[in-house]
Amino acid sequence: MSLHSHIEWTDATWNPVRGCTKISPGCKHCYAETFAERFRGVKGHPYEQGFDLRLVPEKLTEPFTWRSPKLVFVNSMSDLFQPGVPDDYVAAVGEVMVKANWHTYQVLTKRSERLTDMLNERLRFAAAQKHIWWGVSVEDRKYGLPRIEHLREAPAAVRFLSVEPLLEDLGNIDLDGIDWVIVGGESGPGARPIRKEWVISIREQCQSARVPFFFKQWGGVRKAVNGRKLDGRTYNEYPVRFAAPVPERAECFALARTLSRFR
Ligand code: SF4
Repeated sequence: MSLHSHIEWTDATWNPVRGCTKISPGCKHCYAETFAERFRGVKGHPYEQGFDLRLVPEKLTEPFTWRSPKLVFVNSMSDLFQPGVPDDYVAAVGEVMVKANWHTYQVLTKRSERLTDMLNERLRFAAAQKHIWWGVSVEDRKYGLPRIEHLREAPAAVRFLSVEPLLEDLGNIDLDGIDWVIVGGESGPGARPIRKEWVISIREQCQSARVPFFFKQWGGVRKAVNGRKLDGRTYNEYPVRFAAPVPERAECFALARTLSRFR
């Protein structure tokens, strides 16, 4: 777990899975892959195996050791719902989130069909928890918009969209049942351009649907210079948070010992 994430819409990251495979145009310049591959072959480094998929069960209990309540981006370096992650393991991640309920979790995927299937069955116990936010990436119309329909079919208490990197005008988006929208442009070498009118269109749709809108960044090769102001202001809106009080330290450790995988 990284206690201080540089990602604008979260506090911390938790990666019980590492590595992933590309699935759609939004993955083209995947920052996680770039980072992980830098350390391929470096003995003892967490990313010694580069961006190859790897389960990291020793990380499962980390949220119990972290007693100040955080917004936690789950698997910032992977995708929990990719086919190589067994159902049992996804359920174990869900169990941690349900039990360490003083944090608020942000679970984001491009594998929206599996997300919906699992929230309807194996992850049903986690779906209705208001401190767990379930989201899909929406980078374009072809791949992104159908993910919104899958998410809507999931019995999630809180649903969100990460419209990043925004690659084209998305047109009219059905925001029914959506609780939060993040928008951002791509950053780094080779970043694909974003247009202001695409962003304004989404902001206006969020405003008329009363959905919190978070503008993360314009991106580009010089992300810091381009900043994240839209029409002179910063949009940092979030859904309402419902995290539980933090238990005593001993109780946190006792809760960790109740996890199915460790009993
Ligand atoms: S799904 Fe996410 S983590 Fe996986 S390759 Fe695509 S951008 Fe990277």
